[in-house]
Amino acid sequence: MDKVNVPELFGALVFDDKEMKARLSDDVYASLKKTIDENAKLDESVADAVALEMKNWALENGATHFTHWFQPLTGVTAEKHDSFIEPTKDGGVVMKFSGKELIKGEPDASSFPSGGLRATFEARGYTAWDPTSYAFIKDHTLCIPTAFCSYSGEALDKKTPLLRSMQSINKQALRILKLFGTEAKYVRTSVGPEQEYFLVDKAAFNLRPDLKYTGRTLFGAMPPKGQEMDDHYFGVIKPRVTEFMEDLNEELWKLGILAKTEHNEVAPAQHELAPIYSTTNIATDANQVTMEIMKKVAAKHGMECLLHEKPFAGVNGSGKHNNWSIGTDTGINLLSPGKTPYENAQFLLFLCAVIQAVDDYQDLLRLSVATAGNDHRLGANEAPPAIISIFLGDELSAILDAIREDKPYEGTKEVKMKLGVDTLPDFRRDTTDRNRTSPFAFTGNKFEFRSLGSSNSIACCNIMLNAAVAESLRQYADELEKADDFETSLHNLIKKVITDHQRILFDGNGYGDEWVKEATEVRGLSNLKTTADAMPHLLDEKNKKMLLNHEVFTESELQSRCEIMLENYVKTVNIEGLTMVDMVRKNYLPAIEGYLYSLAKTASLMKQVSSNVKCNYEVSTMERLSELTDYVLDSVKDLEEALSKLKALEDVFESSAFVRDELLPKMETLRKYVDEAEMLTPQKDWPFPSYGQLLFSVQ
Ligand code: ADP
Ligand code: MG
Repeated sequence: MDKVNVPELFGALVFDDKEMKARLSDDVYASLKKTIDENAKLDESVADAVALEMKNWALENGATHFTHWFQPLTGVTAEKHDSFIEPTKDGGVVMKFSGKELIKGEPDASSFPSGGLRATFEARGYTAWDPTSYAFIKDHTLCIPTAFCSYSGEALDKKTPLLRSMQSINKQALRILKLFGTEAKYVRTSVGPEQEYFLVDKAAFNLRPDLKYTGRTLFGAMPPKGQEMDDHYFGVIKPRVTEFMEDLNEELWKLGILAKTEHNEVAPAQHELAPIYSTTNIATDANQVTMEIMKKVAAKHGMECLLHEKPFAGVNGSGKHNNWSIGTDTGINLLSPGKTPYENAQFLLFLCAVIQAVDDYQDLLRLSVATAGNDHRLGANEAPPAIISIFLGDELSAILDAIREDKPYEGTKEVKMKLGVDTLPDFRRDTTDRNRTSPFAFTGNKFEFRSLGSSNSIACCNIMLNAAVAESLRQYADELEKADDFETSLHNLIKKVITDHQRILFDGNGYGDEWVKEATEVRGLSNLKTTADAMPHLLDEKNKKMLLNHEVFTESELQSRCEIMLENYVKTVNIEGLTMVDMVRKNYLPAIEGYLYSLAKTASLMKQVSSNVKCNYEVSTMERLSELTDYVLDSVKDLEEALSKLKALEDVFESSAFVRDELLPKMETLRKYVDEAEMLTPQKDWPFPSYGQLLFSVQ
């Protein structure tokens, strides 16, 4: 590879702070900065000036078009390109772009899911510029990050509620900081998402209709080798994958994305990429772009990048870890124990806010990562269970115990932990990061939420996390603001929160069956196993009340989101079911039949030649395969019947329960018979590439 000058390359395709500062007048820059940092309203004349410079910059960098780039509820991003051209009187064109075009767009919104939020006569929605996330150039198009709303003001996207949740946590956290006398203009949450993915050879991928239509294999017997040798995790990266990673990094760096860590993951053909963390909405935009660029770069290298949560049964699926923290504009990480006793007390209160939030809103966190794909991972001994709990590590747990029980903490010289007086020890990462089975782990100065699926937008869980923590902070601020003796009230409050929310803290093995029993039967934690179980809780009174109070969602937005997410689940599994039927009827059954024919013919010919031959292999294989084809036929008919029943159901809650209880089990049965038949049939007679051919296709 040619030598790359990374600092020069970095952000080359981003209209970032450096470009703004260099190109905008001081006044315009200052005014825009105020909007970005403090949410101040944007002046229209400022927008015109920014648009002009943005366009000039874009043209210099090869762009011909612009688009409002947004994140509708489909799960992927959307864009509609317009060129900058405007005709002139002499028959030519000039390149134009106005402040109005920058601020607001009007895509035809009728084809995006809205869950009934837009009356059919009002198909239009509008997009509004999010100046806090930089514009960038992709495929000769200036992409302007935007929020997407209906004309009645309802959010039709993931960015709007995310920004609202960030505002809410900012507001409540500032109230708390004021009580501690900590100076800050604003508080932001930050996220570093670790992204897992698979790479398979494009030619092999193209031969698998299930991968093409659904992103995962719906059939496939295990190859002789899976991940049992533990030889892939952190193993030497294959040359073809290295080339892909180099190319990917360059593309991401150009887009100002802080691609940092890359390594092989546990399953064969599985890898991970982690960027350096950034402000949540920027990290969200960047993660969406990253997923898109991964697919594009893979295609350039003759590979397919699979972002599905469970592309292959029998080996690990892919997740995404959401590393989350909260900090001030002055550079304080509020989840980092400070150097002074006072900072420690502040840290403990923010820690409490997270503990309480996760306990009070376990269901919201669970449903924020619920999709048909992720249901295959959670609780399957490769990812955290569907039960949400928090891991704190020995040191922090011991400190909380000491506070809760008013007993001495051995890590300090003092006899008793007194908040605001004693200094906490520094938490070293190595003492806090040992448990990989916990869904929500404290890792020294941040929390790592590990339940996300690889294709999930990180917006969803961060909306819930921010809102839930904002709610804890609101309660604390309400109480502490009216306290006469701040320190005593603070101590009592922290002690009470730790006592009341003890049940959510669990440092043991999250993969064990004993934990499921203890969590659900003794501790009363919720265990929402599937999307169909989890999603309806979005409309629980307690959850609605909190989300409405913090103005993160409106009532109708919640209603529509719940329906859209369930619809998505139903549609996804429905497509999988139809794909299975298609593959079985058109390929698997005919292929097995062909082999049966050759077995029968061979056996009968052999017997004609000699009456001494037994034909044990031919006959026993034929008998079992013939039996299996009967089972396959019965199961495919069963599945077809269920699919047509599903079609007749109108209520989405009913449909999703049907998918969970009827469709998915029938699909599993069908797969079991086909996979057994695969083991009895020669590779050359099998219609699709095997797991072995897919998982070890990239050398
Ligand atoms: P692991 O050892 O868990 O695999 P990595 O180092 O691969 O961790 O990734 C950790 C992620 O957490 C990175 O994206 C990193 O930038 C991010 N991170 C580090 N500190 C913070 C923080 N204070 N807030 C949010 N994310 C953070
Ligand atoms: Mg991690």
